[in-house]
Amino acid sequence: MSNEPRKESLRYLFERVVTPLGYKFTPDAELVDELLEAEVKLEQDLGAPYCPCQGRSGVREEDMKIVCPCIPFHRAHFDAMKRCWCGLFVHLDVTDPDSLPQFPPDED
Ligand code: SF4
Repeated sequence: MSNEPRKESLRYLFERVVTPLGYKFTPDAELVDELLEAEVKLEQDLGAPYCPCQGRSGVREEDMKIVCPCIPFHRAHFDAMKRCWCGLFVHLDVTDPDSLPQFPPDED
């Protein structure tokens, strides 16, 4: 069965969550498609659209902080990079996501 309908639902929902936070989907459409596909598979396997780029601890309270979009839980770090960890979302003013730096949270 195609994952496209669920990917479209997530796209619709996520956009409404991240826009008020000052973020948008990256202009890299191929990356958006790949990450949404991965999230739909994680949701099918594990019950939630967990982040495809961050490891789960197995501790539910911690893992809920990496259910997409996880921006509210990592705001300072992501704002410093102008992107989320995976690069699925970038600040509203970003036009060239490849130019953005990526660094671990302890280097904020
Ligand atoms: S890092 Fe990005 S893609 Fe991963 S869960 Fe957070 S917002 Fe979603």
